[in-house]
Amino acid sequence: MGDDMKQHIKLTIKPTFIKNLKTGYPLIMEDAIQNKKEVVKEGSIIELVDENNRFIAKGYYGIQNKGRGWVLSRNPQEEFNQPFFDSKLQKAIAHRSTLYNDPNTTAFRVFNGEGDGIGGFTIDFFEGYYVISWYSEGIYQFKDLIIASLTKEVDVKGLYEKKRFASKGMYVDDNDFISGEEAPSPLIVKENGINFAVYLNDGAMVGIFLDQRDVRKTIRNNYARGKTVLNTFSYTGAFSVAAVLGGAVKTTSVDLANRSKSKTIEQFSVNAIDFEAQDIIVEDVFNYFKYAVRKELKFDLVILDPPSFARSKKHTFSAGKDYPELLQQAIAITEKNGIIVASSNCSTFSMEKFKGFIDKAFKATKGKYKIHEEFSLPKDFKTMEEFKEGDYLKVVFVEKLA
Ligand code: SAH
Repeated sequence: MGDDMKQHIKLTIKPTFIKNLKTGYPLIMEDAIQNKKEVVKEGSIIELVDENNRFIAKGYYGIQNKGRGWVLSRNPQEEFNQPFFDSKLQKAIAHRSTLYNDPNTTAFRVFNGEGDGIGGFTIDFFEGYYVISWYSEGIYQFKDLIIASLTKEVDVKGLYEKKRFASKGMYVDDNDFISGEEAPSPLIVKENGINFAVYLNDGAMVGIFLDQRDVRKTIRNNYARGKTVLNTFSYTGAFSVAAVLGGAVKTTSVDLANRSKSKTIEQFSVNAIDFEAQDIIVEDVFNYFKYAVRKELKFDLVILDPPSFARSKKHTFSAGKDYPELLQQAIAITEKNGIIVASSNCSTFSMEKFKGFIDKAFKATKGKYKIHEEFSLPKDFKTMEEFKEGDYLKVVFVEKLA
């Protein structure tokens, strides 16, 4: 559906939200809208105005958590037509040219929502195949334009989509394959020479989180040799694979999801690693910590990468509240001069606050520490200065000194 055929709606913005929206904040919060009673169709073109009907910005309407759409332009004349999407996609693809030309890395992000100028969707590349994730019914209305722009710019071997919004109250999890050739299951992709098995048509998660690429490389190249490694919340064991390839003596991967065991065996196997020489444990991490303390187990390298929020039978974990406590338990089973890789993808707190959690945990254990290095999102996960929430990843390599 073209811009001309869409509903055009004016939304009045509350005074306190105007300055931010004018100076680059891209998300239209539900709270920012004054005339709420109006029923707006998802995908409508919206013009934001102040109480005196003066133009602020324009964009589209789409429900995404507390957001009600994204600003796409501050030019009142801008039209959201094929040339508009073409130019955004073109620029995004050019920004990833180093990755496209790197034969050792064949999985990366091609379009990162608002960081690339259009909030509400992402595009990932996997060895010639593309996966688009849609975060609202609103952006989904622009699907044909976006796919046309993508296929104009690059060769798409096969195309998949993840509808990460609820349609009529139901989460949409149907067949994700759209067009072209279907990818093999698994599809083997490369990341800095490491193989990973991914499944493009098996739910929201494909088997690897692309935003940790630099961290995996750093663990392999600089921290793993000769070390014993504990990888908690290990999912498919991607950090463990990186550690073994970097010369770790042994890895222990812990995740409570049943599927994590076979998935981790598979990731080891596609890298010709003997999985039987590694420990893969299906268990609640918090139980495992108790077990390790009881057995007096200690590790040289402990990786912590919990979800922002998780509920298991016995525990509720919320990163914003419980991270210091999680760190304390990790510190207890880390060797002196060992390294803790503390990671969080929780967008509600900053790197500064995260380092505060680290400080708090070490103080509580009366220990000393030294921060070696820090990571945020890699270059392909493009973010914008004006939208700090988008820069969600925080990873800190900390040494336990005493
Ligand atoms: N570190 C992983 C990604 C972690 S995703 C990687 O780099 O690929 C979060 C994982 O935490 C999920 O696999 C989930 O099953 C697991 N998880 C959540 N709560 C848990 C708990 N209490 N104990 C163990 N695993 C847990």
